[in-house]
Amino acid sequence: MPTPVPAGAVRHTGGCLQPVLLRGRADYIDGGTGELIHRYTTVHEPGGVLPIACKTRRASRCPPCAEVYRADTYQLIRAGLTGGKGIPATVADHPCVFVTLTAPSFGSVHARQDKDGLVLACRPRRKGKTCPHGIGLSCGEKHSRDDHRLGEPLCPDCYDYAGAVLFNACAPELWRRFTITLRRTLARQAGLTAKALDAQIRVSYAKVAEYQRRGVVHFHAIIRLDGPAGPTTPPPAWATVALLTIAIDQAARAVSVTTPAAPGHPARALTWGRQLDIRPVTTNGEVTDTKVAGYVAKYATKAAECTGTLDRRLTHTDRITDLPVRDHARRHIAACLRLGKLPQLKELRLAAWAHMLGFRGHFSTKSRAYSITLGALRGDRAAHQREYAIAAGLQPALQPGTTLVVTDWHYSGRGDPPGTDLPLPRGGQSCPGSL
Ligand SMILES: [Zn+2]
Ligand SMILES: [Zn+2]
Ligand SMILES: [Zn+2]
Repeated sequence: MPTPVPAGAVRHTGGCLQPVLLRGRADYIDGGTGELIHRYTTVHEPGGVLPIACKTRRASRCPPCAEVYRADTYQLIRAGLTGGKGIPATVADHPCVFVTLTAPSFGSVHARQDKDGLVLACRPRRKGKTCPHGIGLSCGEKHSRDDHRLGEPLCPDCYDYAGAVLFNACAPELWRRFTITLRRTLARQAGLTAKALDAQIRVSYAKVAEYQRRGVVHFHAIIRLDGPAGPTTPPPAWATVALLTIAIDQAARAVSVTTPAAPGHPARALTWGRQLDIRPVTTNGEVTDTKVAGYVAKYATKAAECTGTLDRRLTHTDRITDLPVRDHARRHIAACLRLGKLPQLKELRLAAWAHMLGFRGHFSTKSRAYSITLGALRGDRAAHQREYAIAAGLQPALQPGTTLVVTDWHYSGRGDPPGTDLPLPRGGQSCPGSL
């Protein structure tokens, strides 16, 4: 049974719904004399435990912690577009585009089509044509935005579930190959060797994975050209938005990942879908820095839950027919379990990632020089909390290099929702900031 969260402990956790509860202490010892300067112990905390925020990025698990993650992601994405947080404002002059790389089609799905604000028929009539299972290949409906059939196949038996989960599993590798090919394409366009290009240009990016309703991932990425030292250095004059756009287009269309052949599943080359969107990021156009940062930050807190799948891994006691998921998700999961048994596809670890419909990549990644890091933002916040704690007399001011902090912590359970709606202040924790 999880220990209830002590009243008032919310101040430590920013309202986390599933905090980790710790018991223990921290001793602050003078390194020169060995004298105990200060002791913090959870004995005096309500319930004798210190709740620590779960810090999940996933809104489906803990909305308050995901909100902190979203806000931090927004800050760092925006800093990479317009400067701030130590990134110079001149970064806004670097060529920068917002790219969407989609998955190819794995079969006809219900879709909301609109043109100039008018909703059109999903798949207009094709003279009584049917699939081998006797299902019509047309759908005359004008689907509403919340129609649960959106993204689901017209005929599930025709839909290529194996292809869809293999794409999800290979998408991170496809992205990696894309970034390598993009550098090579830029070098070729500039008439430079790869080494000479590295001396002039750094390609920086931040990307998020988003599940489409049909159950395949696609990627949104900010791709920026910097000088050799990253955002602090300007790229050469020949590096323009137009050149970057052409290079991305060529690289995206050139790359593929071939899956290993397995019994009943010949090797297949997986590529990006035909829909490729590349738009310049500007401060006042259609795709602005605030829009892009908001979009990326929003998707950084989501996983596959919007496709109606499970929010957890499958265990050996799960029976696929009993899972509380939509049929479309169930068929993806079944394909992962089926293909996961083939030794030739072992490395894709499809069974372990069946709940994610085969995708096992990170949802939010960026190149080293894109911007500041989430760790730096969190470090700033911890420093503020430490200052507060010192000012409030809850923690001694540490003498750098001379004070030893000896800690002894034990896991003591996971908290239930605190059940308070009092607007309690954030931060101001009395515990050591080193946690
Ligand atoms: Zn939390
Ligand atoms: Zn339809
Ligand atoms: Zn069919």
